[in-house]
Order: sequence, then structure tokens, then C-alpha cells
Amino acid sequence: MQVTAIIAAGGSGTRLGAAVPKQLLQLGGRTILQRAIDAFRSHPGVAEVIVALPEAIVAAPPSWLEGVRVVAGGARRQDSVANAFAAIADDTEIVMIHDAARPFVSADVISRAIDAAAIHGAAIVALPVSDTVKRVVREDGASGGGVITETLPRDEIFLAQTPQAFRRDVLGAAIAAGRGSATATDEAMLAERAGHRVHVVVGDAANVKITTAADLERAREHDVRQPATSRVGVGYDLHRLVEGRRLILGGVDIPADLGALGHSDADVVCHSVTDAILGAARAGDIGQHYPDTDPRWKGASSIELLREVAALVRGRGFAVENVDVVVILERPKIGPHREAIQLRLAEALGIDAGRVSIKGKTNEGVDAVGRGEAIAAHAVCLLVPVS
Ligand code: MG
Repeated sequence: MQVTAIIAAGGSGTRLGAAVPKQLLQLGGRTILQRAIDAFRSHPGVAEVIVALPEAIVAAPPSWLEGVRVVAGGARRQDSVANAFAAIADDTEIVMIHDAARPFVSADVISRAIDAAAIHGAAIVALPVSDTVKRVVREDGASGGGVITETLPRDEIFLAQTPQAFRRDVLGAAIAAGRGSATATDEAMLAERAGHRVHVVVGDAANVKITTAADLERAREHDVRQPATSRVGVGYDLHRLVEGRRLILGGVDIPADLGALGHSDADVVCHSVTDAILGAARAGDIGQHYPDTDPRWKGASSIELLREVAALVRGRGFAVENVDVVVILERPKIGPHREAIQLRLAEALGIDAGRVSIKGKTNEGVDAVGRGEAIAAHAVCLLVPVS
């Protein structure tokens, strides 16, 4: 299913009182618009992003817009969207529209909108309200106040956000209906007018629209309060050493008199690294994902489970920045196998071998590890968000 996202950034955003349009203001090192674009460009389900911008910006685009398809916006939002719609690829099946002023849209929300549009033809993300909602008639000359004429049933009220997603033909009909008609504040309104049923999927409270200076200030605070952009995790593992088992470390078969005992291949390097990655992503631990009571994991290749876990955190928007492991055993020496283990781990993690470090230590003859009865490993992993 071919999906194109249109970012509606044609507005001048004068309400913020800044010298530049609000979508070009900085928020956490990128402009608000850039963050909205990046959210769609990095989504695996979105093939292309088209941005409708004021003509002056299209004529002289800033360098950070390099590689982004831009079209000149129109007088009204619906005119900007119509211009962008005219530029979409022929094989586009789903078109999404997103406000440039919503920089916090998540991949999850984008996916939900795409899925709902594929099923229903038209869908928007929206939030239920928790406040009681009143219909109010404004009094003449009153500064913002008025008189209540009705209390609306709260459970029937939703606040529309973007993205709004449509099958291509549905949006085409809605845009055609919007030409020369009254101004619409969103695309769903055009589709409703064109007689389409628009479905609602629950959006995300964090997907705020930045309209006023106070919104921008709150967004900046929210940005600062976000957990550290990078996340560190720690992992530990120990297995008994016995005769008649293989010693597999980081997916590499190590010649040894004794091997590690376990339900799986008992690879302490992979197990500790897997737990470090899961811990950094706050995604549970290896026992939850691959319980040793489950026959599926009997004799499992731990390097393959590590590969799965690396894919899992990639799906959550993280990349493994580096991994550092200490292997503790009395013999054999790790040194001669260090390179091979680093290469194998890096390959499974999908990163350069220069980001993986393996270090060997003995336990100086102390405790079970020191007596050669067990092997242990400690790992740390740094995850960084993928922009
Ligand atoms: Mg283990």
C-alpha cells in the first residue's frame, strides 16, 4: 500500500508574534516543521512526504529542506492541500494530511491512521474530551464570555487532530468539493461535506498543535522533560561449566574442555547483551521474552535471539550506539577470540564492529567462577534515538 504524507505548512502563523512563520521556529535543535517532516519520513509505511509551504520559502528553501519535495501553498489550508495533492505520485493509494505545527506525532499514531484509512476510506485521529462541554452563545461586546444554551453529551465529543488519512479517491472528491466552497479547518470537514463517512481513531495527547507563544513555551518544557535522548542498559549472565557441552560466546564456538550448561546454547555474552539492550529500551528482560520453560527456546541460538531483540528496539526508534562486555572465566583465554566475537555480535546487532567491545577477565581463583565451575558476563549498551 503506497502512502504519501502531505504536511500543510502554508500558514503564516502570525499568532505567535515571531518574525518567521511558526512552523520555522526552533524546537529542540530542529524547526517545528522539520520535526513533523522527520516523523513521516522515518515511518516505514510512508513512501513520500510533500510539504506545502508559503511561496517565499519555496522560492528560497532553507538548507534543512534539501531533499524534501515542496509545493507552494494556497490562500487557504484546503488550497495548499489541493496543490500538494496534485503533486502526489500516480501509485499513491493512501494520502495523509498533517499539520506542520504538530511536531510530536508518534509513529504509532501515524500507523493507526494509515490502517483505519485503508479499511474505512477516511479516518482521522482525535481525542475524547474529559471536560464538560457547553454550547455557548457569545454576548455582544463580551470579551470571551457568553451564555450557555446547552450541555453537550461529553462521550460524543472528540477533538480532531492530524494526521487525517484518506483513500486517494476519497480525498480527491473532498478536495474537488472544497474548491470554491467555504473555508474548512480540516480535511475531514471536506470529506464530510462530500458525503463520506470519516472514522475516528484515538489519537495521542502528546500530539499537540503549537499555535500560541504559550503552546511553544510548553512544548519546549515538554521537550526538556523528555527522558534523556540516549538510554543506557546493563545486563548480567552466568552459566555453570560442565563436560560434554559447547562453549559458545557471542555466537562463536570456543574450543574448551568445559562448556556452558543451559536450556538454550547458554551463551553468556549474548544473554548479557540482550538484557542490556532490553533494559535500555525498558522492554523487559530476556526471561520474559524467551522463558527457559518454553520448549521453543530449548537449544535456541542466542545470537539469533539477540538479532531479534536488536530489531525490536529498532522498531521502537532506537539504534544501538555501542556495546561493552566483560567476560569472566578462568580458561580458555578470551583474547584470541575477541575479534571473532566482536564481529559476530556487530553483525547480529546490525552495527559496525568498531562499536562492540569484548574484554576477558579471570576471577583470580575466587568463588565458583574462579574455581572454573561457571562463566559470567556483564554488558552495558547505549541506545540512541533514530531521527
Ligand atoms: Mg543465560
